[in-house]
Amino acid sequence: MPFATRFAPSPTGYLHRGHAFSALTAFEAARAAGGRFVLRIEDIDATRCRPEFEAAIYEDLAWLGLEWETPVRRQSEHFSDYRAALDRLIAEGLAYRCFKTRREILDEIARAPHGPGEGPDGQVYRGAPLPPDEEARLLAESKPYAWRLSLDRARERLGEAWDRLNFVEEGSGPDGETGLIRAQPEIAGDVVLARKDVGVAYHLAVVFDDALQGITHVIRGQDLFEATHIQRLLQTLLDLPEPTYRHHRLLTGPDGKRFAKRDQAETLRELRARGVTPAALKA
Ligand code: GLU
Repeated sequence: MPFATRFAPSPTGYLHRGHAFSALTAFEAARAAGGRFVLRIEDIDATRCRPEFEAAIYEDLAWLGLEWETPVRRQSEHFSDYRAALDRLIAEGLAYRCFKTRREILDEIARAPHGPGEGPDGQVYRGAPLPPDEEARLLAESKPYAWRLSLDRARERLGEAWDRLNFVEEGSGPDGETGLIRAQPEIAGDVVLARKDVGVAYHLAVVFDDALQGITHVIRGQDLFEATHIQRLLQTLLDLPEPTYRHHRLLTGPDGKRFAKRDQAETLRELRARGVTPAALKA
């Protein structure tokens, strides 16, 4: 497959220097390989995403000199795709309904016999489907629920292949991990595949779209390195092709902290307004 990579921002704020670095890293890698560069808008969370932030993404990236394929895929327009992928996991017994509130989940984690395990997305939760009669009762009460991936069932399903799950890291993880990495999905726990409010969640949408868009190289910040473990499992369960990963370092400000959406002064539109040129920024 021809080289293809992507930049996949969520329009929940204005892009900052860190995003510029990530987008440029991917764009330049595509250019060097004579491959494709895809921009994808990850806007499944309607409560946090805003049209003005999306408009600013196009403006800021064009200002940086990036070009991308059109039409741009906006995840909010493809819920039925993610639902179909979820339905497949449900049909194969790999997902279960979780009616618990955030509070209940946290309490349960705190009571876990081996103490709370820390995962990349906070504390790791492992649950199980409810007995059918209890589930039927909650459904009859229209109690909202999320869908979670069952790591136990996934492990059963993969058998020995579970121990062979891995990924190729051409960049590096936060602790210098590079090369062939053994995937350890258990560090993420029974991740949510479909949120109560949204109907899908990040990991499922991202693996689905990377495959659909023919992404051969996932180039993104090291903050998402740990997410790769569970994403490789999902790709395997859904028979999706395996991309190569290149996690890059995170840019930090003078205070040593990484740029975040709250750093207003470092947004690309603010830098632009102050007369900073794309060339100066790249340097
Ligand atoms: N949408 C994610 C973010 O803005 C990035 C997803 C990815 O690169 O896998 O953090």
